[in-house]
Parts: sequence; C-alpha cells; structure tokens
Amino acid sequence: MANSTNQKTSNFLEEQVVHDLDTGLKVDSLKFRFPPEPNGYLHIGHAASLFLNFGLALKYNAPIYLRFDDTNPTQEEQKFVDAIKEDIKWLGFKWSEERYTSDYFQQLYDWAILLIKKGKAYVDDQTSEEIAEQKGTPTNMGKNSPYRNRTPEENFDLFQRMKLGEFLEGARVLRAKIDMASPNMLMRDPIMYRIVNKAHHRTGNDWHIYPMYDWAHGQSDFIEGISHSLCTLEFGSHRELYDWFINQINIEKELVPHQFEFARRNLSYTVLSKRKLGELVEKGLVSGWDDPRMPTIAGLRRRGYTPNSIKSFSEKAGISKRDNVSDIALLEHSIREELNATAQRVMVVVNPIKLTITNYDKEKEILEIENNPENPQSGFRKVTFSKELIIEQEDFKEHANRKFFRLTLGKEVRLKGAYIIKANEVVKDSKGKITEIKCTYDPKSKSGSNTEESKRKVKGTLHWVSMKHSVGIEVRNYDRLFNDPMPEGHEGKDFMEFLNPTSLTVNKKALAESSVEKAEIGDRYQFQRLGYYRVDENSNASNLVFNKTVSLKSSFNPKNTL
Ligand code: ATP
Ligand code: MG
Repeated sequence: MANSTNQKTSNFLEEQVVHDLDTGLKVDSLKFRFPPEPNGYLHIGHAASLFLNFGLALKYNAPIYLRFDDTNPTQEEQKFVDAIKEDIKWLGFKWSEERYTSDYFQQLYDWAILLIKKGKAYVDDQTSEEIAEQKGTPTNMGKNSPYRNRTPEENFDLFQRMKLGEFLEGARVLRAKIDMASPNMLMRDPIMYRIVNKAHHRTGNDWHIYPMYDWAHGQSDFIEGISHSLCTLEFGSHRELYDWFINQINIEKELVPHQFEFARRNLSYTVLSKRKLGELVEKGLVSGWDDPRMPTIAGLRRRGYTPNSIKSFSEKAGISKRDNVSDIALLEHSIREELNATAQRVMVVVNPIKLTITNYDKEKEILEIENNPENPQSGFRKVTFSKELIIEQEDFKEHANRKFFRLTLGKEVRLKGAYIIKANEVVKDSKGKITEIKCTYDPKSKSGSNTEESKRKVKGTLHWVSMKHSVGIEVRNYDRLFNDPMPEGHEGKDFMEFLNPTSLTVNKKALAESSVEKAEIGDRYQFQRLGYYRVDENSNASNLVFNKTVSLKSSFNPKNTL
C-alpha cells in the first residue's frame, strides 16, 4: 500500500485519509478524536482505537481530541474520567484538547429546537413499548406515532418543559421526524432525547433531558471539526442517520465530518465490554477494574504488561474490516518477547524442598550470576551459596526414567551459576514423604571457573536458593479469566457461566534469592525456569507480592531447563 507521498499506509482507514487528501481535503483540515464513555475503564479493545486514532494524528501531524461521551448520567462517573486519562497517558499518548459532549448540551438543545421549528422533530408521549411496537420490522414498515403531527409550537413548548424537569422519566421523548417506512430501522423516527432525572457528574442538575448517541455524536464531531470519525462496525447502519442529522444542522461550516467503520477488537478467553467487565467488578468476582486478570489497560499494567507490548500487540493484530477474534496468545507473546530481552533474572523456588550438600564445608560463598543472558550489558548480581539449599519439589524424583533430566538418586545436575551436584540419599518423614535430599558437590565444577570439570556437560540445570539467605514472597498466579475461547459466543448462555473458578492461585510459600529484597512496586523479573513476574501494588517491605505476567513459553513445559 502506498500513497501519493509514497509513504506506506498501515491500514484501510489510513488509505481513506490518503484518498481524501488526494481528492482535495487540505492536510490542515485533518482532525481526529477518541470518544470514550466514562462508564468504566479502558480495555485492550480500546487500545486498538487509541493506536488507530492517535497513530493517524501523529503521522499526519493533526490534532486529536479526547472527548468524553458523557450523555448518560446513570452510568458515568468522574472516577472513570480520571482512570481513562491515566491509562491513555500511561500508553504514551498526548491529546491536543480534552472535551466533553456535555460541553455541547446547550448547542445540541438549540439545534434540536431548530429541527422542531423546521418540522423535523416532535415530542412523543407514548411509552417505549408502544414506540418499539410501531417500529415495524426490517420487512414490515413502521406505523406513524399519533403524536407525529404535533405543531412546531406545541413541540417547542413540551420540549422546553421536558428540559425543565416538569415530567417523569419515560413520560415523553423527542424524536426526529424522518421516515417510518425506511428500510433502515434507525431512520424510523429515532429518539433524540430522553428524560433522565439524575445529577450529571459535570452539569449537575442543569438538565433533565439527555441526548441519545446518534444525536450527540455526529454533532460533537461537527462542532469540533473532526474530519474522520472512526467507529466500530456495528455503527455501520448509523451512518445514514449520522449524515442526516449533520445535514439538518449544517448551516455555515465547510467541512463536514464523515464516519468510517472498522472491526471491533475481540480477544479470545475474555470479554471486551465495559458493561460486562463492570459486572465482574460489581459482583466481586475480581478485585477491581485493575485486577491483573482483567483485559483492562489498568489490569494489564498491574499484571506486568508494558505500553510497548500493548503497542506491539495492537500492531500485529491490526485494524480490519471484518469481525474477528484475536488470539490471547498473541498478546502474551508480545510481553514475553519484550521481557525476555529486558527482565532481570532471579531464582525463586515456588514449591520448596530442602537439599543439603554433605561435603560442603565452607559457611557460604558469594557467586556472581548473569542478570540477563540476552543482554550482556546487564552485568552480574551476587547470589549466596551455602550448605543448605532449597530446590523445587518437582525437580527431584527418587526414581526416574532416562527422560527425566532433573535430579534423581545417583545422577548429576548443575545448580544454576554454581556447582554440579549428585543426589545420594533422601530423608523421609513418618508418612514416607521426602523432606530432604542429601547430595555431594564437585568443588571443581563451579560455573565459569574454566576448569575441565566446570565444562562437563550434565543433562539438567536447576534453579535453587540458599535456605538461610532466602526471602519469603507471595506469588499470585493467574490463569485465563474464562475457560472458553468465546465466552460471549454461546446462544442462550450468559458469559458468566464460563468464568474460570481457578483463575487465581496464591502461593505464600515461595522462597526467593535475597537480591529481590530491594524489589519495588512495578519492577519486572524473570523467575528462572518459571516465568515473568511483576511486583504488585499490594507489596510492602514485610510482604513482597509478585504477579505472574506470563509463562516462559506459550505452553509451559516443566522439562525446560536453563
Ligand atoms: P464498551 O462496550 O466496552 O463500553 P464502547 O464502544 O461502548 O465499548 P466507548 O467508550 O464508547 O466504548 O469507546 C470509545 C472508542 O473506543 C469508540 O470509538 C469505540 O469505537 C472504540 N472501541 C471500544 N471498544 C472497542 C473494541 N473492542 N475494539 C475497537 N475499538 C473499540
Ligand atoms: Mg458504550
């Protein structure tokens, strides 16, 4: 794909922009917006729209407005405005101006009166059920409302009184007078305003009527001078109404906005809808909007994702014209790839068993172990080795077949960054459970010591910590929030039915090498052979808490050695 300036375009919407520039739109007229409703936190689906809109604005050096689409006071709150701003900033985007649809309530009201005066809008006193019934079906035309032919004077009077709060919610609506026989159901006298007697987080009790999406959105685009109003596919059928409304009010401006649609981002094993995610929060099924299992930007941040990894995922998943579901494995891949290159390595044992080196007669020694083998510049850290160590229970079997490359009686393995050891004996409790493994070590086999013994190849390398020099930590492991790839895709079944009951497991018995003592909230690590982890906000000096961000490989294989 190439345009007249021979730049590569990233998607079909950029091609549209280029086409418009090629056919007369001035580059100075380009303007974009990102219009979230402040009724929840942003999720990874919003990231698609953010990268699209901010991406275009950046590339074409055009303004981009952050517009809060705050037309429903029953759902919206200031705390969501604040959270949305924080998340957009964290992703690295800067908006040119912050706007609110509520800034335009007066203008929208004045334009509604203009429509009333032109005979293009009327007040309907019917119930919403009656209105719905008269709408007809796509193949059967609708029926005109008995209130459709009210005079402009009567409509004007009633509409003003609706605004002042004289009527109960649901008593009356304002409708556009278009065509009850239109093949597009949305053109069958759509509702422009409804009565809502609830305080708004910005306009307080100034208004008792609130504009509907279709009336508010295009007009806000028009007021702001947005050139390309990008929305998701389900608004395709709204385009005709978008243009109709703009046509009614377009008196003096040269540039009229246009709506273009792209496919929503869907992600497997989760749901991307503020309303549904809000349900999980309200029912206490997750700890909040930023629970590390949530596909929200705040949840992903807390889990350990970086802005870059979200960008990389958004680019790989792309912007498409048809609905599709992105594989959550692609999202996981994006952070794994980054952390492999950047994360500090440490050793942590999550399921400890004691290992004693019977022939070790020193008190301890300090080893130097690479911080990140992928990055030679990252240097070395000090790790204490001693006679009493801890390894993973899973890394030892008393008797094992030849395919078991970890520790077993009579066989050798290397302890990462330390020595080759051999298991000789086990100690068991009264129930026969192994409580200790007794080993001997080869003093000449120290890693990096350049002796013949240090180069000797053994099948497995295990992570370990020195018992006395370890730090107890809490590890929170996360599995998928839903155990079905498409929790919303089952007819007659609620997405909640597919919630994974074991999506969180907490381990308070893990032991880490002492270098993690200095870990601060937000730090990211690779626990060697286990996965990537981030220090959680719940952490404090006496209780370090780590969230598992992602496993080392897409399907974890415990046979992996270092
Ligand atoms: P939700 O159902 O989660 O509330 P929404 O579309 O109602 O989604 P808005 O706050 O209105 O959410 O969205 C702000 C912008 O983000 C809109 O332009 C919308 O099209 C876009 N957007 C929202 N969800 C997605 C998604 N899953 N994929 C791509 N873009 C999205
Ligand atoms: Mg919405």
